[in-house]
Amino acid sequence: MREMPTRGGWIEVVCGSMFSGKSEELMRRLRRAQIARQQVAVFKPLLDNRYHATDVVSHDGTRIAARPVDTSSEILRMAGDAQVVGIDEAQFFDQGIVDVALRLADAGKRVVVATLDMDFKNEPFGPVPQLLAVSEFVDKLQAICQVCAGPATRTQRLIGGRPASPDEPVIRVGAQESYEPRCRECHELPVSTPSLNLAESAIDGALTAQVVDLGRVRETLASR
Ligand SMILES: [Zn+2]
Repeated sequence: MREMPTRGGWIEVVCGSMFSGKSEELMRRLRRAQIARQQVAVFKPLLDNRYHATDVVSHDGTRIAARPVDTSSEILRMAGDAQVVGIDEAQFFDQGIVDVALRLADAGKRVVVATLDMDFKNEPFGPVPQLLAVSEFVDKLQAICQVCAGPATRTQRLIGGRPASPDEPVIRVGAQESYEPRCRECHELPVSTPSLNLAESAIDGALTAQVVDLGRVRETLASR
């Protein structure tokens, strides 16, 4: 049972994989605040330039005015008198976003954050673990797995239609690649190059051992 505070600020996080409806949920909450005549300010990292420079745009095309900022500290300076502060794509912000969210909430504001929880390697994304820990409310949204149509909690990265290896850099906004939501069972992470090297060295080791054995057999035969 969720009870919203009647006084003071708080932090609420909406997280999940790509295509899980995070931005839509952020906008739904912010729109409701606007309808309730609360002053709303929305920010997003400048890095995320996929669609539009000044709006938070969801995949279904609906939008709400947002200010792109370079660093998390700008949010603190620009939030002004807003009672509700929205932050989209928080995973792309620096670690300072955690302190910014805390200070805004401490100042009595409601902070609504939308963020990816994990990267395509299923590792917690940047400042997100700390952000989740200090939040009052966390919602994990699910997408639909593009392979089995089950509930998806992970983001599959594809390069040229094939699952990307873990060696690829995590952030590559606007690059020629695609993402799709997948469940735990269907998410694929091809073996990385270091692992391949390990496999090769294991084969080398086995071959060396066999050569040594052959040498011993020869020695035994020669000594007869
Ligand atoms: Zn699946």
